[in-house]
Amino acid sequence: MIENYRPHWMTEELDSLRDLARRFVAEEVTPNQKRWCEQGATDREVWRKAGELGILLPDVSADYGGSGASFAHEAIIAHELCAAGDTSWRVGKQIHVIAAHYIERYGTEAQKHRWLPRLASGETIAGMGMTEPGGGTDLQNIRTRAERTGDGYRIHGAKTFITNGSIGDLLVLAVKTDPAERAKGVSLFLFETSTPGFRVGRRLEKIGLHGSDTCELFFDGCEVPAASLLGEVEGRGFYQMMQDLTYERALVSVNCAAVMEYAFKVTRDYVRERKLFGKALLEQQNTRFQLAEVKTIATLARVFADFTVERMLEGTLDTSLASMGKWWVSEQQCAVVDRCLQLFGGHGYMLEYPIARMYIDARIEPIYAGSNETMKDLIGRSL
Ligand SMILES: Cc1cc2nc3c(=O)[nH]c(=O)nc-3n(C[C@H](O)[C@H](O)[C@H](O)COP(=O)(O)OP(=O)(O)OC[C@H]3O[C@@H](n4cnc5c(N)ncnc54)[C@H](O)[C@@H]3O)c2cc1C
Repeated sequence: MIENYRPHWMTEELDSLRDLARRFVAEEVTPNQKRWCEQGATDREVWRKAGELGILLPDVSADYGGSGASFAHEAIIAHELCAAGDTSWRVGKQIHVIAAHYIERYGTEAQKHRWLPRLASGETIAGMGMTEPGGGTDLQNIRTRAERTGDGYRIHGAKTFITNGSIGDLLVLAVKTDPAERAKGVSLFLFETSTPGFRVGRRLEKIGLHGSDTCELFFDGCEVPAASLLGEVEGRGFYQMMQDLTYERALVSVNCAAVMEYAFKVTRDYVRERKLFGKALLEQQNTRFQLAEVKTIATLARVFADFTVERMLEGTLDTSLASMGKWWVSEQQCAVVDRCLQLFGGHGYMLEYPIARMYIDARIEPIYAGSNETMKDLIGRSL
């Protein structure tokens, strides 16, 4: 978008990774997109192939099977997936990466050695089980309960809107270990979906992200060992979730900025070709004004997203800054895609045009990874 633009954290090694990721997306993701959307989920094969290439958990330590690289590596891969219009695998992959980060950051050595190598190879697919039918924003008030038994816990409850819900093998699961407490009563568990009493409910029908499975999950007296508590101490779950959310929010900024670039490019190409009143649609002043604004917004978003990557690399991305990026870039993405779609006229409403799919897929970004209202609340606390 910007001539000769290169964030200063880019390296030759990251250039090579970008090429590798671009090839992988072109060969293994884009050709499967339509089929994944029809079947409502990705295949396991793409996870294993990504694992073989070492692009599934790029910034998890090599001691635990990751590639031992940095957040910039994850951001480059996320950018390539979004810039190619993927809204199937990249959603599940992002959740998988986030789950792995919880394990790396808060898990015991035994938990890290047991799970991270399998997550890095794609043998095991992970999900995050936080949201419940009663609410996703008010996580202190969750109802799913883990009761102490002699040598472990028994889990009862339900989760909803869970990405990778039907294909996942492992969940980072938020439960109440002490229902008398709010935040201090929340703990995270590493929950295996093969546990008796676990059941996947409906795979939910969504307006977009059709290739990413989003499910209801039920836990009917699931017996789990004490060693499945993430870390060794109960009551830390809420604080762990709050700490780790900046990672996810930084990725949303990267993703949405990449989608805007993609929307700009497909729209510019379309209006160059589309002839109306004897000339290209691009030659109408309104079209040029619209695309000039879109290009400006997309450029600002990209620079801000790259800045959040820089802060992540320095370890200085705070909640407020991550929240600014998450709400602003995701909101701009929806507005930009809408304006681009208008320039396609009726074609923009047809699903065979990528802009139509971008329009329905974009709408989730202001909602998940912490709603945009929550982001403004968090920024407000820093005022
Ligand atoms: C496609 C998809 C995938 C998802 N994947 C996952 C997943 O993998 N794991 C997972 O745990 N969850 C997942 N979610 C859930 C998502 O994180 C929640 O939908 C989100 O956190 C909002 O929670 P909610 O839907 O319960 O809305 P609610 O919490 O009921 O909020 C409703 C509205 O009220 C607003 N609101 C809330 N509190 C306040 C307040 N104090 N002041 C003003 N307004 C407020 C919210 O911003 C929102 O606009 C997914 C959701 C979708 C749609």
